[in-house]
Amino acid sequence: MRLISGALGAIVAALAVLSTGCSGPIGGSYNTDQEIKLGRKVAAQVERSNKMDLDPSDNERIQAIARPIEAQAKLARPDVDYTVKIIESKEVNAFSLPGGFVYIYTGLIKAAGNDDDAIACVLGHECAHVVRRHAIKQLEQANKQGLLVDLVGIFSRSDAAYQVASLGSQLQQLHYSREDEYEADKYGLMFAYNAGFDPYGMPRFFTVLANLEKGSQATPPWASDHPVTSNRIDRVNRLIEVLRANHGKYPEDTRE
Ligand SMILES: [Zn+2]
Repeated sequence: MRLISGALGAIVAALAVLSTGCSGPIGGSYNTDQEIKLGRKVAAQVERSNKMDLDPSDNERIQAIARPIEAQAKLARPDVDYTVKIIESKEVNAFSLPGGFVYIYTGLIKAAGNDDDAIACVLGHECAHVVRRHAIKQLEQANKQGLLVDLVGIFSRSDAAYQVASLGSQLQQLHYSREDEYEADKYGLMFAYNAGFDPYGMPRFFTVLANLEKGSQATPPWASDHPVTSNRIDRVNRLIEVLRANHGKYPEDTRE
């Protein structure tokens, strides 16, 4: 099961439980307030169904990395707040939810070792999905296609759990596009760079993922949502050069 293996997976899992499947007014789009409410509901679900890492020393380290990244994300998109929490799991994974809720797994922290810059870049990437509203855009798209029957109900109804398996499986098909992933890399690098981290932490972490993949049969979850290709690494290296040459900004004509 990849229910919680990515942001959209997590949203899907929560929606499958929260949505009743009855019809309701479908506006098709979300304002920030609705986005935050949706994110908060899904976050509560995520935190109920996972073991959260509350260890003070883990949290102290991760929050110290996360705070400057969150501040950069806030500059880029001020209408939401960003929080980073740790999920206790061997999975090499991280994801974000609409409204600014970011989760990183102990498995990913372990894989990154003492490379704080790599973690900063992963958190930057995840915050960038929120800044660019990628999950919300996917949901809006699905809405237009009539996949999400009653999202509005989520905001008006209590948390009564209804299982709608068929809706859940339809929703499972939602994924970020490669374009969204590239954009998240691009903004994530910028957040990390401007927060004072080494942006080469990102290609370094991609190499770690690629090696993990080679060493075992299973693809690390973050790599399955974010395939590590030489193209992606080259692209990230080029973007870092652009950032360094332009004081942490991308000129208008920087290609995605
Ligand atoms: Zn991503």
